[in-house]
Amino acid sequence: MSDLDQVITGYRVWHCRLPVRSKRSHGIGTVSDACEVVLLRLTLEDGTEGWGEAAAWSVFTGSPEASFAALDRYIRPLVEGRKLSDRPALMAQARRAVAHCTEAKAALESALLDLEGRVRGLPVARLLGPDPKSSVPLSVSIADPDFDQDIRLLERLTADGVGIVKLKTGFRDHAFDLRRLEHLRTHFPALDVRVDYNQGLTADEALAQVPEVARFAPTFIEQPVAFHDYDTMARLRGLTDIPLLADESVFGPEDMARAIREGICDGVSVKVMKSGGPVRGAEVARMAAEAGLSAYGGDMFESGLGHLPGLHMVAACPEITLGCEFYQARYYLVEDLLDGEIELKDGALVLPTGPGLGLCPDPDRVAAAEWTKR
Ligand SMILES: [Mg+2]
Repeated sequence: MSDLDQVITGYRVWHCRLPVRSKRSHGIGTVSDACEVVLLRLTLEDGTEGWGEAAAWSVFTGSPEASFAALDRYIRPLVEGRKLSDRPALMAQARRAVAHCTEAKAALESALLDLEGRVRGLPVARLLGPDPKSSVPLSVSIADPDFDQDIRLLERLTADGVGIVKLKTGFRDHAFDLRRLEHLRTHFPALDVRVDYNQGLTADEALAQVPEVARFAPTFIEQPVAFHDYDTMARLRGLTDIPLLADESVFGPEDMARAIREGICDGVSVKVMKSGGPVRGAEVARMAAEAGLSAYGGDMFESGLGHLPGLHMVAACPEITLGCEFYQARYYLVEDLLDGEIELKDGALVLPTGPGLGLCPDPDRVAAAEWTKR
């Protein structure tokens, strides 16, 4: 029997609540106190464990309750007793078993890839591409409604060698956004600054405000309007030379095809939580590159376990050239779930080289984070 013919005998799901360090405002919503993730642990006959995380945000992708139900009720019966070598078929069946819930499918694919990498002695990135990058530049989002707090974070980031920040805009008013951009350009001139509205503007607001923000020459401006407003995204693209990126408008390959057809963006945020796993995320990146669009690796409110499949995907995709945003575990959570830290070197996250995802959750931290007040 090949090791990949082993059967999945263990399937455990947790709903965890992770305290955070500060309030963060994005165009469509605010996170404070804590974020919530759903964890999946698969176990093979020989005891090998593989882990995945579903990091849902109710205003963006969906709710953690939906992720939990998708994994615990609808996906579990497809997986228990199946061979590890059935991964492609399992993913296809999971996509049909429950609509949406892309974060739950991402957790499943992450856990299956983690198992396969551990069994084959290869990092997940090598399962996704032949020649992964060894590190990926890190971008950290500036999103505290109290900008003085963010200035302290910026000083820490600069000391850590982080050279990319993304300013979250569109949650208070235009003057606040311009004031913060001015401050960044004046006091942190070496930073690569990007702007992300997270759908925070109406179409009229976007048509008036985006050209003014573009004067600060950010590397790109991301998703000013609602995900479904492809028409305004296409119009905005014609108003400025600054690249316009799609995030909430593009979840998986199907959205990417439409976004390319309708010319709504110059680049795309690729996230395993939107695409339903790293395999489809890599497909989004390939489609974007073939159409001449750029891409970066985005995240949700994730623990380090959620960052890992994203980091392996970005490392494996030469098409993703704008870095990654896997900063929450280091800079936003009070305590991460992993039993180690993803290394940060010269402003870039270093791809773990061990088998599978390379790191796994600490059981005590998972037990302490389990949310039981339902
Ligand atoms: Mg975004």
